[in-house]
Amino acid sequence: MPMEKDRYPADWKRIALAAKEAAGWKCQQCGKQCRRPGERLDTPGKAGHQFTLTVHHKDHQPENCSVENLIALCAPCHLKADARWHAERRRKKRGGQEHETELHHPGREQQPGV
Ligand SMILES: [Zn+2]
Ligand SMILES: [Zn+2]
Repeated sequence: MPMEKDRYPADWKRIALAAKEAAGWKCQQCGKQCRRPGERLDTPGKAGHQFTLTVHHKDHQPENCSVENLIALCAPCHLKADARWHAERRRKKRGGQEHETELHHPGREQQPGV
């Protein structure tokens, strides 16, 4: 994730947790049930592996933590949402010197489809 930590509010963790709780720990894109905190990825007896739920800013502005701007997404859906946005941004900035995203996320487009 492109974490620009200083742009997040001090209580971001609590805000993110509340958003995940509100979503019932399910991805709001694909409905996948995700792992709650404290649940181990490799819990014996649990079918399949569970995904980590993340919180995405729809407008990609970490400062904007209004409920309408937040959506709980599993890691794969979040990667897709961000990749789409970055691709769009690159298109808009064509000709500029915005190589930052590529450098920070090499191979991001090669995420296997889920
Ligand atoms: Zn998902
Ligand atoms: Zn995001």
